[in-house]
Amino acid sequence: MNYFHWHLTEDQGWRIEIKKYPKLTQVGGYRNGTIIGRYPGTGNTHQQYGGFYTQEQVKEIVKYASDRFITVVPEIEMPGHGSAAIAAYPYLSCFPEKPTYYFFKKAGNKPGNWAGDTTSKTVMQSWGVYDDIFCAGKESTFSFLQDVLDEVLPLFPSKIVHIGGDEAPKTNWQNCPNCQKRIKDLNIKATVSIKLNTTFKVILFSEWKNI
Ligand SMILES: [Zn+2]
Repeated sequence: MNYFHWHLTEDQGWRIEIKKYPKLTQVGGYRNGTIIGRYPGTGNTHQQYGGFYTQEQVKEIVKYASDRFITVVPEIEMPGHGSAAIAAYPYLSCFPEKPTYYFFKKAGNKPGNWAGDTTSKTVMQSWGVYDDIFCAGKESTFSFLQDVLDEVLPLFPSKIVHIGGDEAPKTNWQNCPNCQKRIKDLNIKATVSIKLNTTFKVILFSEWKNI
């Protein structure tokens, strides 16, 4: 009954240290600014914002909760809400060359409400749902996710791990040659979003040797 659902990754920041992928927190842990007010906002703070928990700090929090009969359930989002991870490791995107600013504008944000670099992958500065999700067609995506979970899971005694699955537009998957090849190989329909989401998880779990 007493659970603490700890949402550790999002478009706007990656908040847990992963030793094999230091850029997740060095790059993905910080954004160049934040929109002011509710989406689409009235401007941008133009102030860097960020931070993260080390694995030692995570252990401390899990123990503190456990001592009080609270189970901590970590959430590592996939395949959507991955902009911070993609900023750190652009190869996780179907389109590594497409800047985050492109997806920011595409989602209806005001072009002027952006801070800093507009030409590469950066951490998202506004809220909402974005097309730049993890590429389901590249093996490197699954290696990455498995490596991340291999570090995250030992930190949490919880038998439940939340892997997101929400708000993942399929626009990039529909336009990505790698994703289209996998969809064809698996003989599934790209237009059925829920099925694709499920499939993404199935792929992940089938390749996750510890399960
Ligand atoms: Zn793809």
